[in-house]
Amino acid sequence: MKCPGPAAACMSDVNPTSKAQEFPIAAIATAIGSAGLCVIRVSGTGALEIGDRLVGPSARKPSQQKTGTFCYAKIMHPDTGKRVDDVILLVFRAPHSYTGEDTIEIQGHGGAVCSRNLLHAVLAAGARLADPGEFTKRAFLNGRMDLTQAEAVCDLIQSKTDRAARVARDQLDGLLGKTIDALYLRVTELCADVEHLLDFDESDLQVSFEGPFRQTIRRLSAELEILIHSWHENHFLRDGAVVVISGRPNAGKSSLMNALLGRNRAIVHADPGTTRDMIEDVFSIAGIPVRLIDTAGLRPTDNAIEREGIERAHRAMEQADLNLYLIDQSAGVSADDLTALKTLSRINTIVILTKDDLPGPFDLRVPGDFETVRISSVKRSGFENLVEKMLATLGASDGPSERPVVSVRHVEELRLTLRCLQTTDGLLAAGRGDDLVIVANRLREAAEALGRIVGRIYSDDLLDAIFGKFCVGK
Ligand code: GDP
Repeated sequence: MKCPGPAAACMSDVNPTSKAQEFPIAAIATAIGSAGLCVIRVSGTGALEIGDRLVGPSARKPSQQKTGTFCYAKIMHPDTGKRVDDVILLVFRAPHSYTGEDTIEIQGHGGAVCSRNLLHAVLAAGARLADPGEFTKRAFLNGRMDLTQAEAVCDLIQSKTDRAARVARDQLDGLLGKTIDALYLRVTELCADVEHLLDFDESDLQVSFEGPFRQTIRRLSAELEILIHSWHENHFLRDGAVVVISGRPNAGKSSLMNALLGRNRAIVHADPGTTRDMIEDVFSIAGIPVRLIDTAGLRPTDNAIEREGIERAHRAMEQADLNLYLIDQSAGVSADDLTALKTLSRINTIVILTKDDLPGPFDLRVPGDFETVRISSVKRSGFENLVEKMLATLGASDGPSERPVVSVRHVEELRLTLRCLQTTDGLLAAGRGDDLVIVANRLREAAEALGRIVGRIYSDDLLDAIFGKFCVGK
């Protein structure tokens, strides 16, 4: 754990200090495959000299170039002297680079062979292959970004919808980091106030925590609750939602899947039992990535394959973020439907009455208190209503969020912070404000939890967990 000790100390000296620039690392920063260009990135002390070794003795040396400049170069393998590629070479000098270190970026010809040969030449010139996310980790350690921004780089690269990319972009701009950092500073101020009192003999003290001190704690708690709530509203933007379509054979499941995807993914047939295994695909609603799963029709059967399919359907229904249970309204509600609905929760289930273009029983009643929607996949009616209800049931807001969007890691730390502040407030409310050591400890714990979100405080394990998710080259 970096930054041990009292939170008061954390305030001043833990912003990740410019770590000594390390051994140069290199990686292909572009995707492997047919492409116009590939980019090899080299970063660290000695990166410019690696460039010198690659361009040969007679060429203009990267180490003699200004920061932010580029030049054309013929890359020679440092061991064999053979020409590897003709490239554009960009030079960035510390601290004016992504990592904050001396960096060169080599733009060579694209394709698996060219990029691999270039990388081999760079490694032969003295760099080592970068670990996943190591460039961004160095950027963090060199104070170029806080930990939330570093996480946003990964989110941005992996985002599956425009909306998810926008959220990541906002976080990369520092929206979340600034909000958390402001909270951190306010908690550390409270902590410093209490720790200051610890220097005095308790019998000399006439301390009152009523008034501004407790008001600040309560205000901070309210702000934390709003941020925690934003996770419920928006975590599907990051993580995607699993939506399972289930119901009896012939209820119209495959037709709904195809209609939502906008293409014929699943086989639609009048013969019941056509879909025997799960069919999955991805699409998005209101910018939320959705894993849509069509399941085998639920009915009693002696067929072993069909039974396995039905068991898988039940498992998928249990794990779904949202269940769409389909009932063919023209056939009415069956005993199988009643059995299946008993296993579902109204909190994350929408009952869809399908084939609304066909006449149905006049007195059709869905048991339980389920949200219900009527659709016709043939006439494409009822879908707007369905999408609205899907968003509402997922608890996801439609449209952009003004607030920063927190991740699971952030929300766990925010909950810990909130618990610590609530405990502190409880102690003070019970008149145990003289228990200064406990109050100081809780406040310090709260500050440290916030500090871990932005990376004012970090452990190697935390960094490994975060940067291990990155691709090599970022
Ligand atoms: P699944 O077995 O639940 O996947 O049901 P399918 O999607 O394969 O549909 C079963 C049958 O119902 C097919 O003949 C479809 O053409 C028909 N069907 C599906 N949706 C509708 C609808 O909205 N209206 C009408 N009239 N028929 C539908």
